Amino acid sequence: MILVSACLLGENVKYNGGNNLSEMSHILMNREDVISICPEVLGGLPTPRIPAERRNMQVINKAGEDVTTYFERGAQKTLDIALKNGVKIAILQERSPSCGVHQIYDGSFSDVLVDGSGYTTKLLQKHGIKVMTLKEYYDSYRNK
Ligand code: SF4
Repeated sequence: MILVSACLLGENVKYNGGNNLSEMSHILMNREDVISICPEVLGGLPTPRIPAERRNMQVINKAGEDVTTYFERGAQKTLDIALKNGVKIAILQERSPSCGVHQIYDGSFSDVLVDGSGYTTKLLQKHGIKVMTLKEYYDSYRNK
């Protein structure tokens, strides 16, 4: 089984009520072993919601509220689902404070990216699950 960010599959779970469906997403659509997850929804946040960014170990939303506990809960629930289903690979949405793989926004809400990863990505990696962006997965699949 593989874990995939729900927004990459076209589910409207992004902070603004939209999704991140792209041409590359279609590579996942016909697979029967995909588990769709949105850690922020699993953590108890509504959709739409106020955008949030990581600031070191905290996650702060644009209204200045500390929403770290929602992100921690979502990461833990995602890990529980992964372990229960024997997931070895997760394909997550880059730049998200939950799902970012290599880059996240810097916490200033000014579209500045820094090296780093999301709460859920870190927890999955800590438990030996390989986390890839959709682009990485797409490129590796095409090169097979
Ligand atoms: Fe997509 Fe992950 Fe953000 Fe949910 S938390 S909207 S799955 S990037």
